[in-house]
Amino acid sequence: MSEFDLIQQFFTWKHDDPTLITSVGDDAAVVQLAPDEELVVSVDTLISGVHFPEETDPHAIGHKALAVNLSDLAAMGADARWFTLALTLPESDPVWLKAFAQGLRELADKAGVTLIGGDTTRGALSITIQVMGTVPRGQAVLRSGAQPGDLLVVSGTLGDGAAGLAVVQQRLALPEQETHYCRQRLDYPQARYALAGFIRQYASSCLDISDGLLADLQHILDASQVGAVLKLEQLPLSTAVAGLSKQQRLDFALRGGDDYELLFTVPPAHWQALQAAVQQLTEKQSVSLTCIGEVNPESGIIKDAEGSLVSAAGYNHFA
Ligand code: ADP
Ligand code: MG
Repeated sequence: MSEFDLIQQFFTWKHDDPTLITSVGDDAAVVQLAPDEELVVSVDTLISGVHFPEETDPHAIGHKALAVNLSDLAAMGADARWFTLALTLPESDPVWLKAFAQGLRELADKAGVTLIGGDTTRGALSITIQVMGTVPRGQAVLRSGAQPGDLLVVSGTLGDGAAGLAVVQQRLALPEQETHYCRQRLDYPQARYALAGFIRQYASSCLDISDGLLADLQHILDASQVGAVLKLEQLPLSTAVAGLSKQQRLDFALRGGDDYELLFTVPPAHWQALQAAVQQLTEKQSVSLTCIGEVNPESGIIKDAEGSLVSAAGYNHFA
């Protein structure tokens, strides 16, 4: 299969986006921005064996490559609109490509984003997606906006992706149902793009959790020059992770990567309105929000409810 056929068959998508002037097929894509919009851009690469286990279903790889990018845009409070795909493949295998393109397309259609260009090369399997989205002027949500007194809120549940990876790597054994659940969470992370509008309306700072709650929380604290009190017993856990030992539970929830949930701060006056708004989401988009602590003025420091220091290296104290 030639490069041209491959692009034509799998990556030339029909679209009905009036702001998309030129898409796949020209030297570059042309999109139209409204005068009151800002462009928000992010890029992420997934490498086989590093960002997903080598034997991962290509359908899941297509999903995940886009999901991790949508997650970054949601964390900015931006609506994802378009993306480009740089694909490096060891061979042009139509069976692999079909499943990959399907996984990609299903999520793209759900999230309302269109593939507008890319690049195709031969080499070890790697997938780079650059996503582009928009926010009304001045409304992007940065890591630097947290204020003392804000509530610390997280979407979904924590530690499932890390538990899934531990199962794949045979560091953890779970019952069949929990194994399946955690593997799904690892392979099919649910980017919280449905929350983007609420994030820009209600949150003072936000990021997505890709490296573990503590490491990512630290980024908000450093950027905002604030500290946080974490209520460890409030961390939202799935049944699969809640059933583990306390040590394992905290390890996965605090340090596990691959969750792609949103972590954000909310002024207390906005919390009720945010919860009410999120309850209006459709069943498919619905997601739980949990208040897991509070922002304080102690620059850069994370403590638990008893006042003990919690650090990425020091989580063991809570075993
Ligand atoms: P050029 O040589 O001008 O860079 P290419 O042959 O790389 O063009 O690509 C031809 C067209 O196909 C371009 O519009 C490019 O954006 C698109 N394209 C190439 N690879 C992909 C891909 N993996 N997914 C989507 N579009 C792609
Ligand atoms: Mg090219």
